[in-house]
Amino acid sequence: MNLTAELTSLSPALRSALESSGDDRIFYDLAGIARRYRTLRDELPGVAVRFAMKACPVDEVLAELAALGAGFDAASPNEIVQALRTGTPPERVHYGNTVKSDRGIAEAHRLGIRDFATDSLADVAAIAEHAPGARVFCRLATSGEGALWGLSRKYGCSAADAVRVMAAARDAGLAPGGLSVHVGSQQLTAEAWAAAFDLLADAMVELERDGIRLDHVNLGGGLPALGYADRYGTALAPPLDDIFRTVRQGLDRLRRLHGGDLRFVLEPGRHLVADQGAIRTHVYRLTDRQQPDGEREHWLYLGCGKFNGLYEMDQVQYRLVFPTHPDEDRVPAVIAGPTCDSDDTFPHGGATGRVPVPRAVASGDPVWILSSGAYAVSYLTQGFNGFDPLPYTVLSADA
Ligand SMILES: *Cc1c(COP(=O)(O)O)cnc(C)c1O
Repeated sequence: MNLTAELTSLSPALRSALESSGDDRIFYDLAGIARRYRTLRDELPGVAVRFAMKACPVDEVLAELAALGAGFDAASPNEIVQALRTGTPPERVHYGNTVKSDRGIAEAHRLGIRDFATDSLADVAAIAEHAPGARVFCRLATSGEGALWGLSRKYGCSAADAVRVMAAARDAGLAPGGLSVHVGSQQLTAEAWAAAFDLLADAMVELERDGIRLDHVNLGGGLPALGYADRYGTALAPPLDDIFRTVRQGLDRLRRLHGGDLRFVLEPGRHLVADQGAIRTHVYRLTDRQQPDGEREHWLYLGCGKFNGLYEMDQVQYRLVFPTHPDEDRVPAVIAGPTCDSDDTFPHGGATGRVPVPRAVASGDPVWILSSGAYAVSYLTQGFNGFDPLPYTVLSADA
């Protein structure tokens, strides 16, 4: 089965919503999100899913995932409150951020949260004081290699440090139950997952030597979206089948090594929502200007950019559709958002960094931006330069 091809096509629900929209907004296909969730559960049996809320903190999306049995990876007391509002029991929500204040820990504990990520002695001491008796899982640092966003260095510690952190947790009356990793967001290689399982296996052995027995392993996020292109416009083709096979092998390996009841948690964000969201925006202007170095460049300015929906536009190229100009003569153009900030631009290194744009597009023509459902509404600015945050519509699952 070619999972990638099956999953990247624009769903009929998204297509008809984009076609009939008269204004700029982002649409989420709830049925598509549910399908992606079910596929993930089928691919990785026995692994509990806790959706990383920051990828799409939209109530309707969270409610749908909660109804399907998902829990939530929350990063702050406000996210915890939003997760609990779906009716999800606190046991299925964890405080997955290693960066926490005393006040945040106490607030989470008051809300009923008992599972906390950690990676330092200072944080463990604070959890022991403000969430006495809680369960902690220690995050191991990964290299982030192979991912578009490596997330390395800010979080996680070495295996040797993890032994110290978990021993301190035990001595402080906490339950040192878990280990976690994150292979980096939009991880494009199966090798990174194999390396993460090596890291987990080694740390598990070292912890057992110290008398600390794990009860769960948190595999973090990092599973890719399927519909992005790289900065030169070449479709990224994440080896999803390989990644799932590698994860299954890793799960078996850790289960054998542990020999008891070891549970697994996954915290996907991007993978569940990116390809299930699409933006309808419109053309501001296609221009042709000579640069000071003598080169002529076409630039296409859109109503949507880095500050109102496409925060990640400097790392990935989204696929653009010009529905009113399907097969016309095209010119290579640099794509940019509407603000007066030069960061508000698609990457355009080299001639291939340009996107083919119909020469005849006019101001007001609709443009569809595909696979833009992850980290969109969570990164909206409040009217930077006077541009409104992008509104959203969630297409109901039974429409
Ligand atoms: C952001 C985040 C995730 C989700 O990452 P994706 O790459 O979107 O899957 C999962 N876990 C933690 C702790 C995170 O911070």
